[in-house]
Amino acid sequence: MPFDISGIQLRDLTPEERVDFSKSYEVAGEYQAPPEEGQYLFQTTALKAAKHKEGILAADLTAVVADVASNTQGKGYKVYENGGIFNIKRSKFRNASNVDDYLRSHGIAFDPGSTPTNAEYAQALGLTEGRFFPATIVWEGYCKDCDSTIKGMDQFPKNADGTRSYRRPCATCKKEVFARGKFKRYISTVPGDQK
Ligand SMILES: [Zn+2]
Repeated sequence: MPFDISGIQLRDLTPEERVDFSKSYEVAGEYQAPPEEGQYLFQTTALKAAKHKEGILAADLTAVVADVASNTQGKGYKVYENGGIFNIKRSKFRNASNVDDYLRSHGIAFDPGSTPTNAEYAQALGLTEGRFFPATIVWEGYCKDCDSTIKGMDQFPKNADGTRSYRRPCATCKKEVFARGKFKRYISTVPGDQK
């Protein structure tokens, strides 16, 4: 049977939308299980300037788990932050921002009383590329069909060997949900910050 597109109004892909067949094709990989919830040393592998929807400075961050033994699940696991939440705006709950939390996990702090500019934030963020920082992660699974989030590793079943499974059925629709590791807390290494 012919694959008939004559009755559908279609547009062509833009150059940005096209698969680039001049490069080698990348097949889909296995789902990568997140390491167990807890504290790890991360390494920043990509950091890109972005604009938050409110027009303020934000960034897209990719960091990998750097410090679990090579035979343990999770080394090299990637955790992402996007400019929707990773930005310089003060938190509703603390006199802090998640970008400042991230900078302080690298030991980078603005002077007391200073009012850093976007350029100063950009310069500070630029210093973190490739560097290591401590942070904790939590597990979250998201069901697109139900728009519901399953929070916490303890909400996922245990395997026979005692390790935690990264997949479980959605509580509502029973579709399989996969856990992802998400940053919970950047741990400050600025002297005087520790509680
Ligand atoms: Zn569901």
